[in-house]
Amino acid sequence: MKVINKISDMQRIACEVHSQGKTIAVVPTMGYLHEGHLSLVRIARDLADIVVTTIFVNPKQFAPNEDFERYPRDFERDKSLLESVNSDYLFYPEINEIYPTGYSTFIQMQGITKIFEGESRPTHFDGVALVVLKLFNITKADVAVFGQKDFQQTLVIKQLVKDLNIDIKIVVAPIVREANGLAMSSRNRYLSDKERENASIIFIALEEAKRAIASGERRRKIINSIIISTLRSVPEIKIDYVHTVKAHNLELADEFLPGEEIVMLIACWMGRTRLIDNSTTKIPINEFH
Ligand code: AMP
Repeated sequence: MKVINKISDMQRIACEVHSQGKTIAVVPTMGYLHEGHLSLVRIARDLADIVVTTIFVNPKQFAPNEDFERYPRDFERDKSLLESVNSDYLFYPEINEIYPTGYSTFIQMQGITKIFEGESRPTHFDGVALVVLKLFNITKADVAVFGQKDFQQTLVIKQLVKDLNIDIKIVVAPIVREANGLAMSSRNRYLSDKERENASIIFIALEEAKRAIASGERRRKIINSIIISTLRSVPEIKIDYVHTVKAHNLELADEFLPGEEIVMLIACWMGRTRLIDNSTTKIPINEFH
């Protein structure tokens, strides 16, 4: 695997790849890789001839009070993990390479960037959209793979691609979980053993709600209250939000329709660590009532 630090080198390589009639898949990450990230690279391998993984802890998507400085980093470990899953290139730029002195262009998105995650982290999605657009331009990728773990982010990126007519295919990969159900995340590193154990309640709550839906529950407030009461069984958890909405546009409904795809979204605090998770499911079409 070749490590590329400069934008001009990455763009030259991308041009060469395309001139050979080959395709490129990009997997954007912030590093401190885990099995979730590696699953994205494996999927990318099947989607294109050449895989470019990027590692960049993007300061523009962190608010001043967030964990940019202490975000975990381990370049050597990440590099060997990416070699083990046959990423062809690792694009690993310095901050100054991406945002040099005099950098002036920003993205402002409306709509779904303003709710849920966007309400708790008002500048987050504009920062994500900016870096993702830059990474698309730098890697000239034909396809990009993102994780369902960041469900709202996948919708934001699809909207960005649609609005700005970016010629790229967006693929969403399933959530990879720890044995206890906790969704893998670089931020899980912040959790103590006890917190990590307690955090399994998030997955349990999602599964509990899914079971109720499978047996006929389709009222939004009831679904949310099942999730909330399950989460509350662990007093150490502080809920930021719980929302159940239509999966394709995050819209509310008092009662979901049979056959509708919905998503249950959770954000909560476990001590000093903010965790997000979600689960999609289809409202059954058979009539239970
Ligand atoms: P991050 O490094 O946290 O910015 O994540 C980079 C990419 O990996 C994003 O598309 C995430 O959604 C995805 N990702 C993170 N955690 C997981 C996971 N547990 N399962 C699947 N994808 C994940």
